Amino acid sequence: MLDVQKIREDFPILKREVNGKPLVYFDNAATSQTPQVVIDAIVDYYSNYNANIHRGVHTLSQEATDAYEIARKKVQCHFNSKHAHEIILTSGTTHSINIVATGFTNLLTKGDEIIVSALEHHSNIVPWQMLCERTGAILKVIPMNEEGELLMDVYDQLLSDKTKLVFTNHISNALGTINPIEKIIQKAHKVGAAVLIDGAQSCPHIKPDVQNLDVDFYVASAHKLCGPTGVGLLYGKEEWLNKLPPYQGGGEMIDQVTFEKTTYAGLPHKFEAGTPNICGGIAFGVALDYMNSVGFDNIAEYENELLEYGTKKLLEIEGLRIYGTSKNKTSVISFNIGTIHPYDIGSIVDKLGIAVRTGHHCAQPIMDFYKIPGTIRASFSFYNTKEEIDTLVEALKKAKMMLS
Ligand SMILES: *Cc1c(COP(=O)(O)O)cnc(C)c1O
Repeated sequence: MLDVQKIREDFPILKREVNGKPLVYFDNAATSQTPQVVIDAIVDYYSNYNANIHRGVHTLSQEATDAYEIARKKVQCHFNSKHAHEIILTSGTTHSINIVATGFTNLLTKGDEIIVSALEHHSNIVPWQMLCERTGAILKVIPMNEEGELLMDVYDQLLSDKTKLVFTNHISNALGTINPIEKIIQKAHKVGAAVLIDGAQSCPHIKPDVQNLDVDFYVASAHKLCGPTGVGLLYGKEEWLNKLPPYQGGGEMIDQVTFEKTTYAGLPHKFEAGTPNICGGIAFGVALDYMNSVGFDNIAEYENELLEYGTKKLLEIEGLRIYGTSKNKTSVISFNIGTIHPYDIGSIVDKLGIAVRTGHHCAQPIMDFYKIPGTIRASFSFYNTKEEIDTLVEALKKAKMMLS
């Protein structure tokens, strides 16, 4: 079982005050907080072995290269990919999706179809729209219901031999819905389509097994997993990564360069042009170690408890409506109180030390579906407590009184 008081000791930021009140951090779906071991790894890198990697013969460069490649192995191990070179270290989910979406430019022709879900973050919509503009491919959308669940029977109808690609998130950042990605992947493969899963929101809660899922591409960001910003991963099956062209040209991604012709490096370097976020990559590995030491089963169990408690407590506020009520959801609660603008509530609770997110959560199509400008989103992590939820509920009651 998870000892939350002990875990909170690992996160220095949780001791700070905001506007004279103890910080209550409920914006975990936007970014997670950083444990001391990860901060230490960053300080250690810059204090002791900061150097550029892969090219140097000197000791610091070799130490940095070793640490970076060990981090890649940790990511491989965590996601259970068959090969370490199937793990491309990127700047994050958005970068990873763009590598794949750009890479498909020459693999699609006019009239090909690609399928997205209605529950997506903008970063899993816009790169594909740009791909459609370049290729003449057609973007189809799996719709959702009032609970915030995908309509799988419509998905069945959308799939055909024209379908080349399907991409959806594993968990919706705006509503918390856990999508049935196993079924989505199996059905796509039956018609010969490749699948990309956006795991940015699932990785903090679930340990995915890319081989077991048989997914073609899986992407995520370290900063939602207790790691630093500016680093993430693109997992791709070897055969797919070999098929896709490089995304950027530059150093590191080449084999031979002459002015007549350049040949590219093999995986993973083909997709890692330029000096990467070396320190970030190393710290990402440490963050995964930390999360695994807490244990994903413990995390899921405890976060479910917070979700249940938070849902019950919030619904005691009159006029509060929760968006995203699937039985399969994670510890994200999106809501509004009456017709009060989410921004106004967010500002008042911030004065009381509470960080929640307000707005469309980079998922405007979902807000359009509910015909609302946005929601207030409280997203819980394994270092949050029920007492903090009580503090939020009290603050919301106060805000409601002031605003109505
Ligand atoms: C956060 C998030 C993204 C974007 O991640 P970045 O780290 O900003 O690139 C994409 N999809 C989902 C579901 C997210 O939660």
